[in-house]
Amino acid sequence: MQTIARFPAPHWQRTRRFLILIGTLFGAAFVIAGLAVVGIAHGLDRDELGQSRFYAQKALDIRAASDRTSTLSYAIWDSAYEHLGSAGVDRDWALEQHNLGDTLFTQEGFEAVFVLNDQGPQYALYKGQPTTGALSTMLDLPLASLLQQARALAARKEAFSHVGLLYGWPALISAAVIQPDGDSAPPASANSAVLVLVDQLTPAKLLQMGLSYKLADLRLEPAGNKAAATPHLTLPGTEFRLAWTAQAPGARLLWIVLPSLLLVAAVLALLLGYCFRFALRASRQIDASFASLRQSTDALEASEERFRAVAEAASDWIWETDARGRITYLSNRFAAVTGFASEAWLGQPIEQLLSCDTTPIGPWLATLPEDPANVSNLRCAYRDQGGQLRYCRVSARPIHQHGGVQGFRGTASDITDEVAAHARIQHLSLHDALTGLPNRNLLARYLEDALAAREDGPALTLLLVDLDHFKPINDSLGHAAGDAVLVEIGQRLKGCTRDLDLVARLGGDEFVAILCGLEQRYEVDRFCQRLLDSLQQPVEHNGHALQVGASIGIAQSRLQGYDGAELIRCADIALYQVKAAGQGGWRYYAEQMSEQIQHRRQLESELRLAVKNQEFVLHYQPRYQIDHLRIVSVEALVRWDHPVDGLIGPDVFIPLAEQTDLIVPLGRWVLREACETARHWPEALLVSVNLSPAQFVRSDVVSDIHDILVETGFPAHRLELEITENMMLGDIDNALGTLQSLKELGVRLNMDDFGTGYSSLGYLRTYPFDSIKIDKRFIAAMDGSAAGGDRAVVQAIINLARAMGLKVTAEGVETEQQLAALTNDQCHEVQGFYLSRPIDKAALSILLAQHEVAAANDTLSGQRKRQPF
Ligand code: C2E
Ligand code: CA
Ligand code: CA
Repeated sequence: MQTIARFPAPHWQRTRRFLILIGTLFGAAFVIAGLAVVGIAHGLDRDELGQSRFYAQKALDIRAASDRTSTLSYAIWDSAYEHLGSAGVDRDWALEQHNLGDTLFTQEGFEAVFVLNDQGPQYALYKGQPTTGALSTMLDLPLASLLQQARALAARKEAFSHVGLLYGWPALISAAVIQPDGDSAPPASANSAVLVLVDQLTPAKLLQMGLSYKLADLRLEPAGNKAAATPHLTLPGTEFRLAWTAQAPGARLLWIVLPSLLLVAAVLALLLGYCFRFALRASRQIDASFASLRQSTDALEASEERFRAVAEAASDWIWETDARGRITYLSNRFAAVTGFASEAWLGQPIEQLLSCDTTPIGPWLATLPEDPANVSNLRCAYRDQGGQLRYCRVSARPIHQHGGVQGFRGTASDITDEVAAHARIQHLSLHDALTGLPNRNLLARYLEDALAAREDGPALTLLLVDLDHFKPINDSLGHAAGDAVLVEIGQRLKGCTRDLDLVARLGGDEFVAILCGLEQRYEVDRFCQRLLDSLQQPVEHNGHALQVGASIGIAQSRLQGYDGAELIRCADIALYQVKAAGQGGWRYYAEQMSEQIQHRRQLESELRLAVKNQEFVLHYQPRYQIDHLRIVSVEALVRWDHPVDGLIGPDVFIPLAEQTDLIVPLGRWVLREACETARHWPEALLVSVNLSPAQFVRSDVVSDIHDILVETGFPAHRLELEITENMMLGDIDNALGTLQSLKELGVRLNMDDFGTGYSSLGYLRTYPFDSIKIDKRFIAAMDGSAAGGDRAVVQAIINLARAMGLKVTAEGVETEQQLAALTNDQCHEVQGFYLSRPIDKAALSILLAQHEVAAANDTLSGQRKRQPF
């Protein structure tokens, strides 16, 4: 996916700054324009003022010039010179003839007319009428000054003019010397008459003057009028000034331009404000939509990221198809899981990739529920690129778009391992993990099926096979060895049966074989023999040749019925019988076996109680040195003092105790009791205690003996342990270690029942035995019909043991002949009914006492052979 560009500062802020700039520029433009207009107006007004002042001055000057011209036209006139000159004033000429009369006022506008000489006014008119008023009251200009200034200009025939006051009101005063015109006239003298015309600046005249020069309301006002800032021209020497009303074109301009400018500015400001508001709002909206766009792109990005992470991290792969089921998308995991390139499958129908054995995928997709919350799963299989069959759980849901189903989308989770595990669990639930043989569950199922047809089905023979000597192997060589034996035995069992038969393992060292169709007993017997022959072959394991045997209990459907559990129960009882009778062989179930079993069970529970209540006694059977028949040792033999049945021999209950754990407490009791009793015997006497192989398996014999020796204080060198060869079956190294540990306690070891077990004479070299006891069967056979054959065996054993430095005892000596033969054969010690039966403690005490006396007598009377009791 493309990465969305990061956004700058909010748009609306930039817009606002821009708008403020524009607004400021607009405002500045308007202010500048306004200022320019005001400046222009001000300039206009200033120009106008200057101009009007100029015109006012001009109007005044031109009036004065016109007045001088008028004055000169009257003064430089021959006639005037004649009638008004130094000869005095001709009033008639002047007034009556109107040469210098009222017309000057009425037509030419001069308010006052004077003809002056050094004597004062010679002729005076005021407003056309002769006046006699003093000149000084009429004019502010002194006579002398007037005359002097006029006369100064006479030579140049010019007039003097001056702004002065007539009766206190400003007037233009013009004066010229009266002289004849033409160059011939005599120059003016000091006494020359001067014509003075006074043109008073009346309001009417001023208005008239103003009109000519566009000076509105031209007027006179006191010079001190400072309040009115009207344009004016000061009239020096008077207390008046010439004033007029300014035109003020600038102000007019302002009046016209400024309001419209302001109006335009206001309208523009309103428009701008509206535009600004609009632009701001628009850019805020843009910002908002940018922000929401960013949010949604961020969210989209995050969601895509999540999707990718999930899609890539999960072992599942994701697929999509179009509406027709053709693959349109496969996630990257697809390639990793299946080994295929995704491209190779795009466009292919999904059914070509996946298959389901219960429903075709196409129709399944078509019937998917509409509701997207409902995800449907289907178990599919496919072959990956390596051709290996794999399973996956396919989930799918329709893709809805534009109101219709546009395709399908889902995941495929690899469940190959799960399926395999499931199959394995299935297998395990019906098979034994170690041997792979069917287990109890499958056996039950098989029996149910096979027995369902009852008489109509084939005859079933159920063999319950229990291994002999297996436990010692397992206990001493370890479980690996035990397992190896079980696996091998399983295979041999299977090898002996046919395909339609079943071999199952029930657990431990118990197997079941079910044979189909064997009706005749001899057929079964033949099978059992073959089976035992096979099983008795040693099993090779880590260089050891391990040997087991088997006991077989047999039940038959034709005889014991068509119930599987019942058949097993019957076979079990038969097996029990085989075991009880000594291991090996096979037996068929018979009715009475049940009773025997029942009896045994009862015996077992009684024995348990007996061990608890210590209902046992020890009987003692002495062992004699063959020379002089001196008692050298006493063997402790246990009896059960049954409250009802009386004394019971060990052959009845010892095997039972060995098959249960009872042998352990019983063995301990015997040891303690024997040591306890023997403490009171003469010091030279040993006590012999029998140890069962089961004791070695089920308890720590070494520590038990150690503890008992310590507790009773019985010296170890007086304790002899009788151990049968069977103890050494299985783990030879372990047995050797145990025996050496026992030797280290200081006790003596006697190999009991020599010749009956599996052991060979070779053992004797390896193991730390002090003596051997030849089994009573050989002794019994010595003088029998075997024609000396067994005597040879006894002789051989004796010779061998002697050669090895071992003491040899013969047990079961019942006759004088036997004793004689053994004496002859140089056997060391003897034991048997002929010398003494096993007797109780009290009887032994008497025997020992008599024996002491006899021994003492013997010593006195010299060495001689004693007769047995
Ligand atoms: P065993 O160790 O071989 O003991 C000798 C058996 O032979 C004894 O039988 C004894 O009474 C019998 N016997 C002795 N002299 C003669 C004879 O001249 N002729 C005949 N026919 N038999 C003779 P018992 O006491 O019935 O013991 C049988 C077996 O029970 C013993 O065989 C021994 O293996 C076992 N047993 C006895 N007591 C104990 C015990 O305390 N612990 C263990 N683990 N086993 C014991
Ligand atoms: Ca014994
Ligand atoms: Ca024996």
